[in-house]
Amino acid sequence: MIAVENVSKRYAQSVALAQLSYTFRPQATTVLIGPSGSGKSTVLRMLAGLASPDSGRVVINNVDLNERNIAQLRQKMGYVIQDGGLFPHLTARDNVALLARFSRQQDTLIAQRLAFLSDLVRLPSALLERYPQQLSGGQRQRVALMRALMLDPPLLLLDEPLGALDPITRYALQGELKTIFSRLKKTVVLVTHDLNEAAYFADQIVLMRDGQVIQIGRIEDFQSRPVAPFVTEFVTAQRGHVALTT
Ligand code: ADP
Ligand code: MG
Repeated sequence: MIAVENVSKRYAQSVALAQLSYTFRPQATTVLIGPSGSGKSTVLRMLAGLASPDSGRVVINNVDLNERNIAQLRQKMGYVIQDGGLFPHLTARDNVALLARFSRQQDTLIAQRLAFLSDLVRLPSALLERYPQQLSGGQRQRVALMRALMLDPPLLLLDEPLGALDPITRYALQGELKTIFSRLKKTVVLVTHDLNEAAYFADQIVLMRDGQVIQIGRIEDFQSRPVAPFVTEFVTAQRGHVALTT
């Protein structure tokens, strides 16, 4: 089980999370959505152990995340951020293989996994010899996804992974990502601020504001059974996008 329970986090200027609780559905895609500053990235950073809660707890595979077990639990997670976060001084291949080499996997196993993953994300394997700045934004995100999947983690954390891409590349990668999610049966937590993208990916959408969960459900629930005026405001503000899916 993966969950956050009564998690609060305050920074000097702001409350990032306020008593937030949520249990993520295993082997399903949960999309966190909400305005900028609503705490979406903070939730992912907490699941990844990159930020610690002031109070409350983070549970990964039924274990409370703490300083002693984070290194081990992090091996069960893949994390992708908006610009991919690749190391610029390493080739794509070395970026992807880094963690596997660190955990002393055999070279033949690593090569096999690289071949499987480049096929999965449809990245021509010749591009693996390039450095990140020699790749397009879409190619970099494919490499970042390969890196996140290298150790075959059951949990994938994706923070606006398609946010920096042009619309055509983004559209293509959305389709491919969705296929990958259903094929690999991972527990996926994906952050976006685009309701259209949320509706496309999500088994469950979590709408956040001010570090709290406002409503959980499918896009139809937000449209026909909003729990607060904010939900309608949020949906209405993105109406043009949502109309495209229907
Ligand atoms: P979102 O991803 O929804 O845009 P974040 O989780 O990044 O929101 O941020 C939530 C709030 O916490 C914001 O007000 C943000 O400014 C603040 N915050 C997040 N990280 C930090 C940090 N490292 N230092 C100070 N404030 C932060
Ligand atoms: Mg964010």
